[in-house]
Amino acid sequence: MMKPVRILHLEDHANEPESAAQELRILMLEDVEEDAELIECELQKGGIRFVAKHIRTEKAFREELDQFYPTLILADFSLPSFDGLSALAIAKEKRPQTPFIFVSGAIGEESAIETLKNGATDYVLKQRLSRLVPSVKRAVHEKEERTQRLKGQEEILRLNVDLERRVAQRTDELEHSQAALRQAHKLQAIGQLAGGVAHDFNNLLQTIISVGDVVEKDLSPDDPHREDIGDILQMARRGALLTKQLLAMGGRQTIQPRPLNLNDIVSETENLLRRILGEDITILSELAPDLAFIHADPTQMHQVIMNLALNARDAMPKGGTLILKTSSTPLDELFLSKADLPMGLYVILSISDTGTGMTKEVQERIFEPFFTTKEQGKGTGLGLATVYGIAKQNNGGIIVCSHLALGTTFKVLFPALVNDFNKASKKDQPMKISTEETQSTGTILVVDDEAMIVKHLIRRLTKKGYTVFGASDGADALKLLNANPAIQLLISDVVMPGMNGRQLQEKAHKLRPDLKAIFMSGYPEELISEQGVMPHEITFLEKPFETSALYKMVAETLTSRA
Ligand code: ADP
Ligand code: MG
Repeated sequence: MMKPVRILHLEDHANEPESAAQELRILMLEDVEEDAELIECELQKGGIRFVAKHIRTEKAFREELDQFYPTLILADFSLPSFDGLSALAIAKEKRPQTPFIFVSGAIGEESAIETLKNGATDYVLKQRLSRLVPSVKRAVHEKEERTQRLKGQEEILRLNVDLERRVAQRTDELEHSQAALRQAHKLQAIGQLAGGVAHDFNNLLQTIISVGDVVEKDLSPDDPHREDIGDILQMARRGALLTKQLLAMGGRQTIQPRPLNLNDIVSETENLLRRILGEDITILSELAPDLAFIHADPTQMHQVIMNLALNARDAMPKGGTLILKTSSTPLDELFLSKADLPMGLYVILSISDTGTGMTKEVQERIFEPFFTTKEQGKGTGLGLATVYGIAKQNNGGIIVCSHLALGTTFKVLFPALVNDFNKASKKDQPMKISTEETQSTGTILVVDDEAMIVKHLIRRLTKKGYTVFGASDGADALKLLNANPAIQLLISDVVMPGMNGRQLQEKAHKLRPDLKAIFMSGYPEELISEQGVMPHEITFLEKPFETSALYKMVAETLTSRA
C-alpha cells in the first residue's frame, strides 16, 4: 500500500497518502518507551485518530521523513544520541510544511524561544501534557488554514489563536488542581470516618469472632446450631474485611511494609487469578528479570492486583487477555507529573485488559469512592478508590490509559528501594512455632477498657493453659504487675482512656525490663507513624483476630528473646 518514495521539495502535502486528511501520521522522536506510550495515550484520549511511528536516532528520523510521510512530528528536546534542534533543522529542510511540536521536559526559556525562532510549531512541556491535544489540533488546523488563506488573514488568526492558547492553558491548570484537591478532601473525610468506625466496630467484631469460634469448636458435629454459628462467624469476618477496605481507602490501613519484589507477588497471585478469571480470559505476564525492590505490605499489593484484575474481568465479559507487567525505570517529568510524584526510580506494575475501555467521563470519576457503572449488587465502587489509597499511602501513584472498545491499562507506581534489603528481609522471617492443640504455660496480663474483650481473652488463654490476669486500665495493670512478678507478657489495647497502651508499656518496662508486650487494636493510630506504618519493634495484633492468631503470637512472643 505504501507509495513509492518521491523526490523531495515537492509541495509538501503532495507526498501524503490519501487518508491523511482524517488520520494523522505522527513521527515521534522519543527515547523513553514509557513516555511514548503516554503521549499516544493522551492523543487517543483527546479523540485524535492517528498512526504513530516511534524512533530514537538521526538515521531513523531521516529515513522515516522520506518513507513514513509524517503529517506531524513530535520530538523530545534531548536524546542520548541526537537532539531536537538538529531534528528540527532536518525537518525544516526536508519537509518545511509539516508541523513540528516539541514535547519535552523543562529546558529553560531561552532554549524554548530558540526552538520557536527556528520554526517549531509549538513547545509542550511534559509536565503540562494536557496541552498536547489542543496544540496538535491547532497545528493541524493552522496547516489547513495556511494552504487556504492569505498571509494577512493568517496574522490576525495567529493573534487570536495565541490568546486562546493562553486562556486554554490557564483553564487546564485550574481544572487540574481543583480535581486533585477534591480527591484529597474526599480521602481525608473517608480516613476520618473509617478511623472512627474501625475502632468501635472492630471491638464488637472481636467479641463476636472470639466467642463464635469457641462455641463452634464445642458443638458436637451434628448439632443443629452448628450452621447458624458458622453463618455468624462468616458475617463477622466479612464485616472485618469491610472495615479494612474502608481504612485502606482513606490511606489509613495499618500496614507492615517490608522490602519485597513485586514479581513474587504477581507470581503468587497468578494461580488464584487463573481460577477466578475463568478460561475465557488469557493471562500473560511479563516480569522484568532485574526488578528493583519496593518497601510495601504484601497483603496490600495482593489487594491492588486483585482489585485491578477483577475490574479487568468485568470489562471482558466475552473473554480477552489480561497482561500483568512489571518494570523499574527512572522516570522523567512526563510520567511523574501525570501521577503527581517526585523524580526518582520507580517500580511500575502495569495491568492491561482487552476489554470495553472507558469513556473520558467515566475515566474522570473512577477513583471516587462508590463510583460504579455496574448494576446494583455487582459493583461497590470501592475497588479503585482502594487502589488509589494504597498507592498514595506507599508514596506511589497511579496512571490510567483507556481506549473505548480496545481496552484499559492501569499503571501503579511505587518508589524503588535502594537500601540493602537482604538484611531486613531476614529479620522479618517469622519464627516457626507449632500452635496445635497442645497446652502451654506462662503468665499473662490482659488490659483493655472493653470488659467483654478482657473477659473472653482470659477465657481463651486460660483454656490454652496460661495463667491470666485482667485489668481495665493502665493504673490497675501496673498494680497487678507489681504484685505478681510471675507475669511475663503484657497484652494491651492501644487506645484507652487515661493511660494509653504505649504509655502503659513504657511504665511497665521501667518496672520490669524483661516484660514482653503485644499490642492489639482495631485502629492503632497512636502506634503508627504519619504514613500508617507500624514500627518494627512492636508486636501487634490487629482486631478483630482469630483465636488461633492469638495463640500463635503469644507463643512466639513468649519464646522470643527480649
Ligand atoms: P466497581 O468495580 O465496584 O464498579 P471500582 O472502583 O473497582 O468499582 O471501579 C469503578 C468503575 O471504573 C467501574 O464501575 C468501571 O466503570 C470502571 N472501570 C474500572 N476498571 C475498568 C476496566 N479495566 N475497564 C473498564 N472499566 C473499568
Ligand atoms: Mg472493582
